Amino acid sequence: MPHPIVRFAPSPTGAIHIGNARTALLNFLYSKKHHGEFILRFDDTDVERSKEEYAEAIEVDLAWLGVVPDRVLRQSQRFAFYDEAAQRLRRAGRLYPCYESAEELDRKRKRQQARGLPPVYDRAALTLSAEDRASLEAEGKRPHWRFRLDPKIIRWDDLVRGESHIDSASLSDPVLIRADGSYLYTLPSVVDDLDQKVTLIIRGEDHVTNTAVQIQLFEALGGAGAAPHFAHHNLLSSASGEGLSKRSGALSIGGLRDQGVEALAVAAAAVLIGSSTALHPVASLDELIKSLDLAQISRTQTRFDPAELAALSARTLHGLDFEAVRERLAAHDIAGHKAQPFWLAVRGNLTTFLDVIQWWRVVDGEIEPSVEDGDGEFLADAAASLPEEPWDETVWAAWTSALKATTGRKGKALFHPLRLALTGRENGPELALLLPLIGRIRALDRLSVRGA
Ligand code: GLU
Repeated sequence: MPHPIVRFAPSPTGAIHIGNARTALLNFLYSKKHHGEFILRFDDTDVERSKEEYAEAIEVDLAWLGVVPDRVLRQSQRFAFYDEAAQRLRRAGRLYPCYESAEELDRKRKRQQARGLPPVYDRAALTLSAEDRASLEAEGKRPHWRFRLDPKIIRWDDLVRGESHIDSASLSDPVLIRADGSYLYTLPSVVDDLDQKVTLIIRGEDHVTNTAVQIQLFEALGGAGAAPHFAHHNLLSSASGEGLSKRSGALSIGGLRDQGVEALAVAAAAVLIGSSTALHPVASLDELIKSLDLAQISRTQTRFDPAELAALSARTLHGLDFEAVRERLAAHDIAGHKAQPFWLAVRGNLTTFLDVIQWWRVVDGEIEPSVEDGDGEFLADAAASLPEEPWDETVWAAWTSALKATTGRKGKALFHPLRLALTGRENGPELALLLPLIGRIRALDRLSVRGA
């Protein structure tokens, strides 16, 4: 599909989670892969629940993930278009007023269920005469408006699920406008998708039924063939198997960011989990695009395991080039000629990015050297035999082989006290790489700390 126009259409009613990020990224990466356009549309017709601060936070979360929209729309600014579309549907006899209360509808459904029938709206309102309606309105009843579905099998070729169909007889005529005049999501979405010439809708499989209804709406408003293509991806659940919701805050993108999870790991997990491509770290979204294949998305719900994401995040860090992190390091005052060799030395030991702070202190700041009982004399010998600068990565081997010869120590007995004194830690990056960054003055200072 050349130059597709796609969109991600969250309702700004809470923080987006990894499942929403999946929808956003599948759309965004698809648009990039095929040189198309990506629209961010806020479905904020529900003015009670939609909040500007949620919309802003969603843009921040998307930007963090690298998802940058070509256009941003807000449905709350477009009511005139929806009113006009509703008017056209009324004139065409496709939108009809209904007066049943929620309780009446509930009673009807229960009666149908008791008789083993599907709970499909019986279209009783279609039989109301003009006088019936006038008298209901005289009683103060306000109508809600339903879209009259055409009786037919609605078909589409889903880019994830393949040939799909729903018999409209199994569906109730959907309510498009509530009695208070507010719009449900169904109509505005179609009006905007038509207006913005959206060519492909990638969204969660919880929307499959909406798709059947909306295909008929696309055709009612835009003519035969006006419906775009559809792709319904599987949904993610939490590790314990519950669905994710914006309101619960579970696995929110902001929460993952605060825990120090790498954005590229979140993106890779969001796209690859629940597909036939194994989860793997990527160095950029461009690399992730190569693994994007809608047809490979599985059709079953997938559990999302935060532990797997944490591991992927660490592996992502281990592979990042200096250029990819230069600015992030500078934000922590890690800059200058040492910054690049420092990054290359420590990246393989990071669990989260913020671990760089402690390692930078090792090479450029103050630490508490650690000396075990009985090592004091050895460290004094080590200090005395530290080669003169300039140093490079060979100095460690030269120094320790000389020490081995003079002290008779080898293996752990040789290396471990040096690591403890020079870094204050039991484990860490290769000392051959760290030592030249620590430098002779700092090294001497740390080795000269007297143990017991
Ligand atoms: N606002 C809808 C949602 O968040 C959009 C669904 C769609 O993509 O059409 O589920």
